[in-house]
Amino acid sequence: MPSSDHNLFSRFAQRFPASTATVLLETPAGQRYSYADALSASARLAHYLTDLGLEAGDRVTVQVSKSPESLWLYLACLRAGMVYQPLNDAYLQAEMAYFIGDAEPSLIVCDPASQTIIAGLAKKRDCPVLTLGTAANGSLIEASRSCAPEFETTPRNRDDPAVLLYSSGTTGEPKGAMLTHGNLIANTATLVDAWGFTPDDRLLHALPIFHAHGLFVATGCALMSGASMAFLPRFDTDTVVGQLPECTVMMGVPTYYGRLLQTPKFQHETCRNMRLFISGSAALLPETFKAFEQRSGHAILERYGMTETLMNTSNPLDGERRPGTVGPPLPGVSVRVVDANNDGTPNGSVGNLQIRGPNVFAGYWRRPDRTAQEFTTDGWFRTGDQATIDADGYVSIVGRSKDMIITGGLNVYPREVEQVIDQIDGVAESAVVGISHPDFGEGVVAVVATEADRELEERAVIRTVREQLADFKAPKRIVFVAQLPRNTMGKVEKAQLREDLAKVFR
Ligand code: AMP
Repeated sequence: MPSSDHNLFSRFAQRFPASTATVLLETPAGQRYSYADALSASARLAHYLTDLGLEAGDRVTVQVSKSPESLWLYLACLRAGMVYQPLNDAYLQAEMAYFIGDAEPSLIVCDPASQTIIAGLAKKRDCPVLTLGTAANGSLIEASRSCAPEFETTPRNRDDPAVLLYSSGTTGEPKGAMLTHGNLIANTATLVDAWGFTPDDRLLHALPIFHAHGLFVATGCALMSGASMAFLPRFDTDTVVGQLPECTVMMGVPTYYGRLLQTPKFQHETCRNMRLFISGSAALLPETFKAFEQRSGHAILERYGMTETLMNTSNPLDGERRPGTVGPPLPGVSVRVVDANNDGTPNGSVGNLQIRGPNVFAGYWRRPDRTAQEFTTDGWFRTGDQATIDADGYVSIVGRSKDMIITGGLNVYPREVEQVIDQIDGVAESAVVGISHPDFGEGVVAVVATEADRELEERAVIRTVREQLADFKAPKRIVFVAQLPRNTMGKVEKAQLREDLAKVFR
């Protein structure tokens, strides 16, 4: 890789094992793919994209099920200099119309089953639509079969976009975050180092790969350290328990760890080769952390990041992993907590979390106004998360600023109330939201999922909160549910809760 080339793929390739026959990934069905397979398959696809007339910088919109071939397509886009634009496979027609209109791709790749619909949407752009199935099939794979298995990777500058990833914001129009080759190289190299990845690692990969967590953090760490992966199409508890004994590292959202705890099959012995469990994308409950440590002997390492910044903070590999915190900033990343005037707040008090570093994205696609709004005049990115930083530099995420409740003019941070409710015997988990209230502006409402066969009383829950927090923070209503609504990344869908409960005070 010439020193002027900052193509992420070139950086991966530098760290590929000397013997490319080494296994890169294996599926639960026993299909094995080596590093050599990844090189030749991605080369064929890169040739095919180039032959289609796509040029460096062109977007390739991809809405497919997870498969080894979908990973090769990502690598092919990197190699040929195209901008990879992955989308959640759950998106429906209207959502796809928005993304295609906004990203203006030069090629769309979709599952064979959705080809007719997507082709209809792509007509306006006159852009080809090819398919990728989960059995190494589909028109894209067929078409690339005759292409050469070697490809000279296109050099890229640090600032060239590698991926256009739409932020999963639950309100407003999704915006495309432009992540550059430089962002991805810097962040992945930092994580490989911080989490001690080596070629001896085998990563349990059950995450989707249309999101930063599964795509950059998980596959990135494996590819940049010459490790291998147990590559699962999705999280299925029994399959994961079956695969874990052969693995050394697992990355997951908190929901995965909760599910492992629900099966008696998950035991100390299941983790006999494991050295690290990593959690992120949503808050890991301290209760889950503790129960997991008791069952498995492992303290889950919690980290924090977002689409626009990749990973920002991480509990340490060696050193104290503090439940309820996301750890100190990663090397090279700066964090600060400020008030509404952008002034620093004293250690331990809640404020807006801002980030600076080589991991921070290049801006929103074709939205310079939105990009400008999200950066301070002195160049810090406003995460929209509210946080505290303790005297040792450990960051705790308290909530999203848009989730903050203002009731009777007073600020309530949902997470603080949730933590009290979660401690109550019989509560599985809770989500606190602000709902329009005729008197207070917003009223605090707690949605509480109880443990199986447990019944709790609204009044008793409110009383417990009152005993521990100021009166104005106590919920005015408690709504009991069997389960909190969560999206595929394990995030509680608060926007949906707010919508469902909109009339609770009317
Ligand atoms: P996304 O852009 O979809 O990756 O979502 C990023 C958001 O997820 C962050 O801004 C946080 O609000 C949340 N998040 C990610 N990791 C954590 C964590 N460990 N604890 C709490 N919230 C998290």
